[in-house]
Amino acid sequence: MSKDLPVTLNNAVIYHIQLKDSFSNFGKELINLGYMPDQKFCIVSDSNVAPLYGEEICTLLKESGYQQVYCYTFQAGEASKNTSTVNDVYEYLIGHHFDRHDVLIALGGGVVGDLTGFTAATYLRGIDFIQVPTSLLAQVDSSIGGKTGVDFLQYKNIVGAFYQPKLVYMNLNVLKTLPKDQLVSGFGEILKHGLIKNSRYFSWMNEHYQGILDLDYDTLEEMIYESCRIKRDVVERDPKELGERALLNFGHTIGHAVEKLADFKLSHGVCVGLGTVAASYLSCRLGNISDQDLALIEETLQHFGLLTRVSDLDAKEILDTTKLDKKMVGAKIKFILLETIGNAYIYRDLSDEQILEGIHYILTETE
Ligand code: NAD
Ligand code: ZN
Repeated sequence: MSKDLPVTLNNAVIYHIQLKDSFSNFGKELINLGYMPDQKFCIVSDSNVAPLYGEEICTLLKESGYQQVYCYTFQAGEASKNTSTVNDVYEYLIGHHFDRHDVLIALGGGVVGDLTGFTAATYLRGIDFIQVPTSLLAQVDSSIGGKTGVDFLQYKNIVGAFYQPKLVYMNLNVLKTLPKDQLVSGFGEILKHGLIKNSRYFSWMNEHYQGILDLDYDTLEEMIYESCRIKRDVVERDPKELGERALLNFGHTIGHAVEKLADFKLSHGVCVGLGTVAASYLSCRLGNISDQDLALIEETLQHFGLLTRVSDLDAKEILDTTKLDKKMVGAKIKFILLETIGNAYIYRDLSDEQILEGIHYILTETE
């Protein structure tokens, strides 16, 4: 079982996204990419994923003729996604004499992918890297599109580069070991894909939520394939986020603020889900989508274990935090709204009062 999505830039295929049911073909894919037995590989992973899959990948590479395989592991979690971990990887690579022909393999979720991609982009002015995304969010979102980077001071993803991998190889069966809350986090981005680009896909998600939650392989494969296709299409048309790619930020303006104010105790996808509800509510108030559409969106999020309301947060504080979001143009917040389910647009003319109304909608007052 296998699916393949080529990604093009300026009409040339630059890499493939491969959906597989195991890692068994990974070595063969490296041979197909033209890597030679004398090249070195460093598998960069985190403390959760390396013990689960590091050894298997290492053995597979050796069986494919690559003898110089190294593994660098850092502490799992967003707190490691910083320049200090990048420095540690540089040191490790220098210590093991990695040169311009050698290759990094990012084995893990979005933290590993973003950090490894950035390290690959900057070490010796750029060496090859391969994405092996293992979280649902990384499989449908962060491994595609070439955004790499790390956090710095209190700013998320403030240091980074656009840098494309040579291959995105995903084994869907690794989702069996992914903690449930991380799976739910991925659903936040997946439902977003349907809402901004494809109403049929959104309905399909609603119809198939049981199979998806049960991790039925064929259903999962169809879902991940469709989400990757939507993200691929957007980043192909707008690789550097000059226009359409901003639509992928649907739910993220308020979502990021909630994520920050809740001290990162809620997963990214859950916060995106809350931002989705607020943005959908505003889309409804502006007369775009109907009350029934709004109710359907909330019901679908709930099917997937996402939240539609949050407590213990202050509306004004959320508004002020959204204004610090780096996706602002001048003083106006660049807000993504729905024209219909499956069709989003950029809107720059929301007043503070309107945004506050959207925020109030998702807040449950607590005594
Ligand atoms: P993550 O990398 O922290 O992974 C989530 C958790 O799941 C971690 O504890 C990880 O160790 C664990 N894990 C991953 N795969 C596993 C598996 N198969 N089995 C068991 N445990 C597993 O977080 P994430 O949600 O994958 O990614 C979030 C990051 O992605 C953020 O830093 C965000 O900024 C970034 N991101 C980047 C882009 C982009 O375009 N580059 C897009 C969206 C998000
Ligand atoms: Zn996101």
